[in-house]
Amino acid sequence: MLATKNLKIGRDYATYSNIGLHVATLSYKGMSSNIRIEKTCLFCSEIFITKTTVTKYCSDNCAKRAYKKRKRQEKLQVVDAGPQPIPKEHNPLQDKEFPNIQESCQLLGMSRWTLYRMIKTNQLKAAKFGRRTIIMKSDINKLFHS
Ligand SMILES: [Zn+2]
Repeated sequence: MLATKNLKIGRDYATYSNIGLHVATLSYKGMSSNIRIEKTCLFCSEIFITKTTVTKYCSDNCAKRAYKKRKRQEKLQVVDAGPQPIPKEHNPLQDKEFPNIQESCQLLGMSRWTLYRMIKTNQLKAAKFGRRTIIMKSDINKLFHS
């Protein structure tokens, strides 16, 4: 280790090797008490005077509060980015086992009258429950396999 205690920046540093100079420069920045840097606190936006270039907050209090705030945000982000189902284009009609006439039209993309004609000509089976006419989804599927 280089002794930094008696280090002089200026006349003496020219005698250091490159590596030595690097260490000396770092030590100089970290240790000199002559540096005064005006900075803005990242938490409370107060202007404060610091001796080091790495200080971000005017006080320990601000540093702690900023740390807590960051942790809280990280937590929120984790919650936000939690497992979410990828929204799929899903037609709930696809799940219906017994669609009615209107729903069958939508499923098949055909008009009501075409559908009625298919039922009349026995191309498609339909069941009547009172005023409701329903079609079995499997019968619709059969249309595509016949
Ligand atoms: Zn502050």
